[in-house]
This record gives sequence, structure tokens and C-alpha cells, in this order.
Amino acid sequence: MFPDRLVEGYRDFLTGRFADERARYADLAETGQSPQIMVIGCVDSRVSPEVIFNAAPGELLVVRNVANLVPAYEPDGDTQHGTSAALEFGVQALKVKHIVVLGHARCGGIRAFADEASPLSPGDFIGRWMSQIAPAAAALGPRDPQDEVGWRTKLEFASVELSLENLMTFPCVRTLVARGRLALHGAYFGIASGRLLARDPRTGSFEPVGQSVPSRRALLHCV
Ligand SMILES: [Zn+2]
Repeated sequence: MFPDRLVEGYRDFLTGRFADERARYADLAETGQSPQIMVIGCVDSRVSPEVIFNAAPGELLVVRNVANLVPAYEPDGDTQHGTSAALEFGVQALKVKHIVVLGHARCGGIRAFADEASPLSPGDFIGRWMSQIAPAAAALGPRDPQDEVGWRTKLEFASVELSLENLMTFPCVRTLVARGRLALHGAYFGIASGRLLARDPRTGSFEPVGQSVPSRRALLHCV
């Protein structure tokens, strides 16, 4: 049986948002989508980009996977590359202007990697997927056993950095960035606080956005 929760939610959507935006949906169906922004986010149910950015239908092209990772460009014929295919679609077919890699606090994928959590193993899908961040984890230096949460938080930010670096291994992305037709951004969502940080491309640091009074101190409470 189809879940009642979904039937109820769909009814609300039909009489609420769909009714309110009927013309927009009709227009999008007729003319096709042309989102300007692509978001690469985590599958985490608490970190829905459309909700966080209050997006209307047709505004965001979203691809989600465990821990918002972009694999490096790897045009081989042996592996299925879902994220790379979505990226190609967004950049080459839809010609998005921005790509945002959206990391977040309390990421289960990062935790699985950090804890090497049972029943996950390097042979499982998630173990193999998360092994991509091993170089980023190694670059963080030795772990402080007294501060596991702090280390995982650093790794969450490092996963965003890694995805941004890997995006630049795609020739189409590199070319469009060089021509100023595509911009890459890093962001981080603190679930409990609702705070959004955006990466400053000049310094590489993540700073609060959308706040009336940006505060460095607030960063400490982000997660
Ligand atoms: Zn996550």
C-alpha cells in the first residue's frame, strides 16, 4: 500500500502549492526547465536544498548522494557514474550558471567513514563510495581522540573542498569556469541552528550568509 503520509502530503501540495503555482508549472511543462543553479547535496533527509533555499519548481537542479561528493572525472566505460551524468546534464545541456556543493553538520556518510562503522565495510557500496575522501582525511593530519566531533566537522568541510576540486577535473567545468560562465561555490548547513555558511573563494573560509549580523563566534555554534 502506498504510504498514507505521502498521499496526505500530496493532497496538501495539490490544493496548496500546485494550485498557487499552476501557471508556473504549466509554463515549465510547455517551455522546459532552465534552472540557473545546480546543487550537489547529501541524501540526508534533514538537508533538502529546495526547502533550505525556499526554491520554486524549476529553480534548482539538484543531485544528491551520500556526503555530497563529486567523484573526479573518470571517463571509463566500466562504471556507472550517476553524479557525473547529472553534472554533465546540468552544465552542458541546461547550462547552469552556478554549482553549489552543499555540505552539512552531523553527516552520516562522513561519520561512517570516520568510524568505519559496522556493518559498513570497505567492500560495501557506501564504504567504497566514502573511500574517495581518504586523501582529504589524511590531509587533515592526526586525529585528536579527545575531539572526534571536531575532526568529523573538519572532514565535512573537507568533503566540500574535495568536491570543488574534483569539479575542476571535468573539462567542461574547467573551461566554463575559465570563461567566467560558470561559478563554483561551497556551502555548509548547520542542522540544529539552521545557519548557512558559504565559502569565501578568496580565503577558503566559510562565513555565515543571510544573517543580519555575521559573527565569527556564531560559527562555533553552527553544528
Ligand atoms: Zn550527509
